Amino acid sequence: MTIDLDAVEQNLQTVRSLAPGRKVMAVIKADAYGHGAIAVAKKLTAADAFAVGRISEAVKLREAGIGNPICLLEGVLDKEELNLASVYEFQVVVHSDYQLDLLKQQSARRQIWIKVDTGMGRLGLSLDELKKLERSWASQSVLGYMTHLADAGSPDSALMEKQLGRIDTLRRLIGPGKNLNIANSAAILRYPNLDAAWVRPGLMLYGASPMEDLAPISSLYPAMTFTAPVIAVRSVKQGESVGYGGLWIAKEDTEIAVIAAGYADGYPREISAGAPVLLGGDEVPLIGRVSMDMICVRLAKGHHIAPGDRATLWGAGLPIERVAACADTVPYTLMSGVTARVPRFYRGGIRRG
Ligand SMILES: *Cc1c(COP(=O)(O)O)cnc(C)c1O
Repeated sequence: MTIDLDAVEQNLQTVRSLAPGRKVMAVIKADAYGHGAIAVAKKLTAADAFAVGRISEAVKLREAGIGNPICLLEGVLDKEELNLASVYEFQVVVHSDYQLDLLKQQSARRQIWIKVDTGMGRLGLSLDELKKLERSWASQSVLGYMTHLADAGSPDSALMEKQLGRIDTLRRLIGPGKNLNIANSAAILRYPNLDAAWVRPGLMLYGASPMEDLAPISSLYPAMTFTAPVIAVRSVKQGESVGYGGLWIAKEDTEIAVIAAGYADGYPREISAGAPVLLGGDEVPLIGRVSMDMICVRLAKGHHIAPGDRATLWGAGLPIERVAACADTVPYTLMSGVTARVPRFYRGGIRRG
């Protein structure tokens, strides 16, 4: 698998051009969606902040020398985590009462984002709870207010309308001059006028679109290209089957290639037969079941494929959005699901001097 860090940097530029004047909190949780959080963070030092899910992810980044602000999107769970967050100077999201209580017990300098639930229904204080908090806690300085959108990627979403209404209420409640931090990739692309000081892109930094109806997007460059070698080219006689369950049966004498990537590498087992694989410059169809270590594809007559040739499972030349659709999933799961045994080769590392 190759990871093109220049593409990630280019995509950050695209975020900046779509959200001019906004600060960018680059989301690099889940090992930067499988791209390698440390490598991505070292490349994106121009980001105004990074965001991760868990404190363990943030500690690894600091230990690797990342000096940018790092925000813990899930906040801290207990005193130990809060202490660690202070030591490492992490920004913490406060989404629940128990976290407010933890903070009140601890006097160290705090960098807090207040998370407000405007309709995602997952984490965050309700607008009513926020009202109470503002009265009791008005003196506490916070970095700003964060909320998450549940349906920014769908056209004409009633849920999005509801959230936008509540975001207006939130704006009035906190008053002018406060930082809002709202837009994920879908909102940056579909609601560029959403007024907030910060944006919080993840997926688009890696060059994929979160939206089925707007995918792929030509101004985004795929950073991850998942490749694997052909390890055998075989002839299958008419009537013979290939793979577990004998699901695919040759209608005529057929040449196939066996590729060394399977579900234990993160290639989805649920993907439908016929899914495209890029091989020798052409798209060839997946045949039979995905195995743990291998997949098989049907080759065209007169092909020149030989063992050692590399197939692209998704990435440059084969949009991940299309492959995800064949597996009835989204690019997020494919990217974050590539397993540790797949070697990563980085291109466009950090420039020096
Ligand atoms: C993952 C995440 C994001 C980034 O979402 P994308 O769709 O990848 O842009 C933003 N905010 C929160 C709270 C998240 O968990």
